[in-house]
Amino acid sequence: MSTPHGTETFTEADVLFDRDHIWHPYSSTVGAGPTFAVTGADGVRLHLADGRQLIDGMASWWSAIHGYNHPDLNRALVEQASRMAHVMFGGLTHKPAVELCRRLVDMSPASLHTVFLADSGSVAVEVALKMAIQYWQSLGHDRRRRFLTVRGGYHGDTLGAMAVCDPDNGMHTLFRGVLTEHIFVDRPLPGFSQACQSIHTEQLAAAMQENHRELAGVILEPVLQGAGGMRFYSPDYLREVHRLCRKYNVLLLLDEIATGFGRTGKLFACQHADVEPDIMMVGKALTGGYMSLAATLCTREVSDAIGQKGAFMHGPTFMANPLACRVACASLDIVASGAWKNDVARIERRLTEGLAPCRSLASVKDVRVLGAVGVVELQQPVNMQEIALRFVDEGIWVRPFGKLVYVMPPYVICDQDLQTLCQGIVRTVSATGQ
Ligand code: PMP
Repeated sequence: MSTPHGTETFTEADVLFDRDHIWHPYSSTVGAGPTFAVTGADGVRLHLADGRQLIDGMASWWSAIHGYNHPDLNRALVEQASRMAHVMFGGLTHKPAVELCRRLVDMSPASLHTVFLADSGSVAVEVALKMAIQYWQSLGHDRRRRFLTVRGGYHGDTLGAMAVCDPDNGMHTLFRGVLTEHIFVDRPLPGFSQACQSIHTEQLAAAMQENHRELAGVILEPVLQGAGGMRFYSPDYLREVHRLCRKYNVLLLLDEIATGFGRTGKLFACQHADVEPDIMMVGKALTGGYMSLAATLCTREVSDAIGQKGAFMHGPTFMANPLACRVACASLDIVASGAWKNDVARIERRLTEGLAPCRSLASVKDVRVLGAVGVVELQQPVNMQEIALRFVDEGIWVRPFGKLVYVMPPYVICDQDLQTLCQGIVRTVSATGQ
């Protein structure tokens, strides 16, 4: 692909300004680690300002599933920009929103009927929590305002979303007294391909029995807990959560923001367990990583119940931004073509083979792969500054957190680039573990 961005420069003054004035995700402005200036991105490659190119193992945090600078996505954006970049969604509607929501309703589990377009994953989670609370309120159950969730989860960084993230590795201590206190049960066990037994779900069942009269819903990430620990769990467990939600008449909220659109080998991860949620959130890969957009979908029962009592109380300024909706339509058309199935299966095989040598390293606790997600869990937390430089020297972009070195590359990554990615990880983990 062409590189129309080759002329952009990044000066020493830009580097200094960035360091002094700009916050990056989860970073300190004092003694920050290295940041690398990117001047362009094509396919699976990031182009650094210093001329180096990196194979992207992160797909920009799960989002760039079709790779960068994709002609269909570029075209959708440019065409929409010349028609209408944005217009408010209160009292107005437009084709990009209708087309996107039609696609979402068609492709998502059959239970889901109504779509709320949100600005980001965290906002989609806030919207989902509010939807569940308003649903029960509209039925006259004002006490149902708490949520039950599992430890090890991650749902975003806004206050409502944070409150249902893992209470230990999340930010509960930092924001104690500010976050709503919800009900947590142990993280889901066992692993993805193991059968779940009653011992694994006892605590969950007891908590449901005890608290269901106060519960608006159960919220969790289906089958793969992402930023809370990169762990895969048994679809049986999810089936049991679904069964208990039905038994106690509690809403099931599934967060497919990281897993949606094929990442785990199914279009939506809940399909591993054949369960359908009452409320589901998608984001990240929705626009193929081009723009910030997410969506919260719910059943007709939920939207009608709320609607009969009045309005659903959420409405951001940039709701249903036409540029984002149009690029999301183009991304979902590529998803609908179905090529991702073979790609994700191929990536799963290559990651399984390629990361296997890490298993014999003393510094490694576990290696696991599901779909287009590969995880090397170390015994000790990584030294971020050191490991970041080593990965870049290997010509790959991998950004670990804590003890986790993980990748979820764009689906279009070729076998050779996957091999380079895996070899770079094996070499780096071997070198840093000594
Ligand atoms: N839910 C899940 C499962 C996520 O992985 C994330 C982001 N890592 C979010 C919610 C929050 O999304 P965003 O960063 O777009 O706010």
